[in-house]
Amino acid sequence: MPSSILKKILVIDDDSITRKALVKILNNAGYEIFEADNGNLAINMFKIHTPDLILLDVVMPGMNGYEVCAKLRLLIDYHNLPILMLTGLTDAESVNKAFNAGATDYITKPINWTLLEQRVRYAIRATDMHRSLQTNKAKLEQAQHIAKIGYWEIQLDSNEVVCSSELMQLLNLNKSLNNRPIEKFLKMVHPDDFDRLQKTFINSINNAKPFQIEHRIIRNDGKEMHVQQQTEIIFDINNNPISIIGTLQDISEIKSAKDLISYQQYYDSLTDLPNRKSFMVHSKNVIDGPDHRNEIIVTCLIGVDKLKIINETLGHDAADEVILAYTQRLKTLNSGNNIYISRYKDDSFALLATAIMDYLQVNDLITQITALSKKPIWLGEHEIHISTSIGLSLFPLDNDDFDIILKGAENALNRARDNGGAQAVYYSEKMNRKARARMDIERDIRKGLERDEFVIYYQPQIDIHSGLVSGMEALVRWMHPVKGIILPPAFISVAEESGLIKQLGNVVLRKSCQQTAVWNRRGLGGLRVGVNLSPKQLLNKDFQNEVVSAIKDSGLPPSLLDLEITESMAVKNIKNVIASLKQFQDIGVTISMDDFGTGYSALSYIRQLPINIIKIDRSFVKDIGAGDDGSIAKAVIAMAHSLGKTVIAEGVETEVQLDFMFENGCEEIQGFYFSQPLPADEFEKFVIQHNTLQTRQHSN
Ligand code: C2E
Ligand code: CA
Ligand code: CA
Repeated sequence: MPSSILKKILVIDDDSITRKALVKILNNAGYEIFEADNGNLAINMFKIHTPDLILLDVVMPGMNGYEVCAKLRLLIDYHNLPILMLTGLTDAESVNKAFNAGATDYITKPINWTLLEQRVRYAIRATDMHRSLQTNKAKLEQAQHIAKIGYWEIQLDSNEVVCSSELMQLLNLNKSLNNRPIEKFLKMVHPDDFDRLQKTFINSINNAKPFQIEHRIIRNDGKEMHVQQQTEIIFDINNNPISIIGTLQDISEIKSAKDLISYQQYYDSLTDLPNRKSFMVHSKNVIDGPDHRNEIIVTCLIGVDKLKIINETLGHDAADEVILAYTQRLKTLNSGNNIYISRYKDDSFALLATAIMDYLQVNDLITQITALSKKPIWLGEHEIHISTSIGLSLFPLDNDDFDIILKGAENALNRARDNGGAQAVYYSEKMNRKARARMDIERDIRKGLERDEFVIYYQPQIDIHSGLVSGMEALVRWMHPVKGIILPPAFISVAEESGLIKQLGNVVLRKSCQQTAVWNRRGLGGLRVGVNLSPKQLLNKDFQNEVVSAIKDSGLPPSLLDLEITESMAVKNIKNVIASLKQFQDIGVTISMDDFGTGYSALSYIRQLPINIIKIDRSFVKDIGAGDDGSIAKAVIAMAHSLGKTVIAEGVETEVQLDFMFENGCEEIQGFYFSQPLPADEFEKFVIQHNTLQTRQHSN
C-alpha cells in the first residue's frame, strides 16, 4: 500500500510496551517508524524527520498529549498533518479536548490492532489527497490567471458574495469588498447592461437554472471591460437552491478583435449602416419568423440618382458626402422603430419596413421617402439637387420567399431607373396600377376642389315616435366632369392620405351648415344635420375655429349641428379627443358615434366619450328579415341604450327592419326604406311631403 517512498510515522508514548508493539506492527505494514517516549523529544524528532502521521499518547509524564499536540500544530505548514491520539479516556470531555488541541482523530486503548492499521492508512491517504488537491488548486488558479477567469459564490440567504483572489484582481477590487452584499458588486455593471443582467439573474434564481451572459463592467479605475459570466446553482439535499457559483472571464481582448471582424463583415464603414449582407440576414430572419398574418412587410430599394455623375464631376469625396447626408435623412424615417435601414450598394440603400397594416401605409411610406430628396444637399458652395429611384416588393403579396422578394425589388428599382429615375415602381403590375390610379385621383380632387365639383346630398332621419323628419346626414358627392357622380368610398381615403381632406371637409361643413340654416329659417322643422369627420380633421388645431366660423357665417343654431365621429378616431388619442369634443359640446354642437358596434373598443372606453347620439351600424341591420333573427342587433341596441344615449339605426331598408327597430326602442331611423341620400332641392321636397303625410295620418 505505501507508495514507493516510505511513509514516516512518529510514535509518541511513554509506555514502552505499547510503543514497541506499535512500532512492530506498523513496520510490518511497510511504514518507516520513529519513536519518542516524551513530548520534548517528540517535537525535536518531528522537526528532523517531518513524519507523515503521528500517533500520540495522551497520558504522559511531563507534557501530556494535548499539550504536545497543540505545540505541534503551532509549527506552521503542518496543519494538515494527521495526528491520531491514543486514549483510554473516551468520555466526551477528553475527546473534545483532543480535537481542541488539534487532533485529527483518536484511537482508544486498549488498541484494536487490525483497526489501527486501517485508521492509519486512511488518515495518510486523506492527507495525500488533500495535498494533491492543493497543488491542483494552485495549478487551476494559475490557469485561471492566464485565462483571466475569476470565481465567485453568492450565498442566497445572506446575499453575500465571496470572490476568488483572481476575481478581485481582475476587477481591481479592494480586499475589503469580499464577503459583501451583491449590491456592492452590481454597481460596477455598465448602466446599459444592468437591466439585462438583473433580469437574467432573477430569472436564473426563480427558475433555478444556470446562465451565461456577456456584459460590460466599469471598474473603479474607469476601465471598461467586457466579461462573460457563467453560473451554476448549488442545491441542498431538499433541492432548494442555496447558492450560486459563477466564473467571470475578461473577454475584452477577444471581444474587440471579434467586434472589428464582425463590424467589417456586417457594416458599411462610410455610413455606419448595416451592409447588404446584414440586410439579407436580418430580412430573411424577419420574413421566416413567426406569424405575419396581419402585416405587410415592405422591401424597398432606394437608389440615389446620378451619383455616378456627381462622382465624376465633383469627385469621390463629394459623392460620399451626398451619401452621408442622405443617410441622415433616411434615419428620420425610423421614428416608429419598424424600419431597418442598410447601405445596399455604393449608390443604393435597402429598407425593410415591418408592421405595415395596409396599402395606404405603404403609400405613406413612399410619400415620406420621396420627400427626403426634395431639399437640396449643400456641399460647400455647391447646391446638389438629388432624386431617388425606388423599387418596392411586398410580402406577402408578391411572394413569401425573401430571395424572390428581393429580386423583385431589384427588378423594380431597375425599371424606375430605366424610366428616368425620380419615381417609385412596384414589383407587381397590380400595385403599379393602383399607385397610378391613386395619383390620378389625388390630382383630380385638387382640381375638383378648385372647380367646386363637390356637392352635398342629404339623407333623412325619421323620429320613430312622431314619424316626422328630425334631421339628416350630409353625404358628400363628387360631380366629376367625365366620370359622373362619384361616391365617397372611391375618394375619401385618397383625400385623407394626401391631406386634402382638410379642405374637402371644410367645404362639406360650410355647405351643410349654410343649407341647414336656410331650411331652418324657412321653418322646415329645426332639422339637425350630421356631418362626417375624418380623423385628420378632428385633431387638427384649426378645426375648432373652422366649426365656429361655419356656424357664425351661416347663422345656424349650434344645436342643429351634429358631428359624426367613429370609434377608431377616438381610441387613437382619447384624452385629446375628449377635450376637443367637450369644447364642441360647450358651444352647443352635438356629437354622434358613427358605425357603432364595428370597432373593437370596450364599452368602458366608449363610456368616457362625451357623446349625444349613437348610430347603430348598417351591418347589424341588413340581414334582419332575411335569415338574421336580429339577436346581435338587439344586444348592440341594448348596449347603446345602456350608455344612456339616443339611438339611430342606419341602413333600414325594409318594413320588417323598421318594425324591429320600433320594438327594440330605437329613437330614429335612417335608410333607404324612407329615402336614399338626396340633392338639397329633392330633400326639401321629401321633407315637406313626408311630414304632411305623417301629420295627416296622425290627425286621422
Ligand atoms: P356612413 O357615414 O356610414 O354613411 C352612410 C352610408 O350608408 C352612405 O353611403 C349612405 O348612402 C349609405 N346608406 C344609407 N342608408 C342605406 C341603406 O338603407 N342601405 C344601404 N345599402 N346603404 C345605405 P355613402 O354616401 O356612400 O358614404 C359612405 C361613407 O363615406 C360614409 O359612411 C362616411 O363614412 C363617408 N363619408 C360620406 N360623406 C363624407 C364626408 O363629407 N366626409 C367624410 N369624412 N366622410 C364622408
Ligand atoms: Ca356617418
Ligand atoms: Ca355609419
